[in-house]
Amino acid sequence: MQDNKFFPEIHGNLGFGCMRLPMNGDKVDYDEFIKMADAFTEAGFNYFDTAHGYISGKSETAIRDCVSRRYDRSRFLLANKLTESYFETQEEIRPFIKKQLELCGVDYFDFYLMHAQNARNYKKYTACKAYETAYGFKKEGLIRHFGLSFHDKAAVLDRILTEHPEVEFVQIQFNYLDYNDDGVESRKCYEVCVKHNKPVVVMEPVKGGSLVNLPEEADKVLRDLKGGSNASYAIRFAASNPMMSTILSGMSNLEQMLDNISYMKDFKPFTEEETSAVAKVCNIMKQKNLIPCTACRYCVEENECPMSIRIPDMFAAMNRNEAFSDGKPKQYYNNVLTVDGNGKASDCIKCGMCEAVCPQHLPIRELLENVAATFE
Ligand code: SF4
Ligand code: SF4
Repeated sequence: MQDNKFFPEIHGNLGFGCMRLPMNGDKVDYDEFIKMADAFTEAGFNYFDTAHGYISGKSETAIRDCVSRRYDRSRFLLANKLTESYFETQEEIRPFIKKQLELCGVDYFDFYLMHAQNARNYKKYTACKAYETAYGFKKEGLIRHFGLSFHDKAAVLDRILTEHPEVEFVQIQFNYLDYNDDGVESRKCYEVCVKHNKPVVVMEPVKGGSLVNLPEEADKVLRDLKGGSNASYAIRFAASNPMMSTILSGMSNLEQMLDNISYMKDFKPFTEEETSAVAKVCNIMKQKNLIPCTACRYCVEENECPMSIRIPDMFAAMNRNEAFSDGKPKQYYNNVLTVDGNGKASDCIKCGMCEAVCPQHLPIRELLENVAATFE
């Protein structure tokens, strides 16, 4: 396995994103998670990533029970984040990180990030002196490295990194479909990191699964390469850029974990043939009218929709409908998404609370009107 060029304590370049852990009903499936964590660590990797809001708090406690309590602390690295919705004043930041440490069953975080930074919430972090406060935790040994995760335009990132040179690394959304996207600006954000000499941690390398379950025409382009899974191309595309430290993959079962390990343990950079194949996939995908939802679930877990609308599942059904036209999404909408107390898309009262937390800045209210027109 290759050394990590930027942080010698990180083994290899694959990180285990713990936002989409295997579930059994509304509980994390500990048996499956343990198998995945064991496979990951036995392959030599050691970087786990979580946040307080992931799976409504269950990600942190699953890490405590399946990782922290089962491995010696020297065998794993843990990244956690300071999320906007859990503090209103500077004084609330210290109790919050103490609570996170306790929930995760550790004495320190190896990596600690200002979570999902954008122009709007950066004002709050600045007013609450969040950067200064969290960076101060380094001296106390509560955190080892200080960074930020980011969801906005490259110019905003440039400003934050100029104002906070103490930031050691940056986590950005980066995948081949968003690379030249005018909304996400993956490439431009990456270039800002290069300019400021900050190692990059990648999130959403498979765009919430959109680059795994490809429309048939795009799927065929990758199949014809005869080299690996669709996920492998997306993850290796991201990892092939020189400033990348770690590629986070939000794996949900052992099969995905073993697939990721198979090509990241002995990592091979992208070839020219692969680069031109993913360019073709992008062209095909851009012709489809897909909703760029990454299924992060912030809109349902960081926000309480008053009408209990399963927003990301509805968008996934819409995208599947657009990509495959097999009629199944409509059945799924009727049989699963709108029963058991869940609201229909047309029940949306347009309060806008979900849009305030969506890192992709999606016009959710407008999109739900399209969902209602399509499925109801
Ligand atoms: S705008 Fe609609 S979907 Fe969003 S939180 Fe309000 S009611 Fe729920
Ligand atoms: S709509 Fe936005 S917040 Fe909700 S899951 Fe999709 S990307 Fe995440």
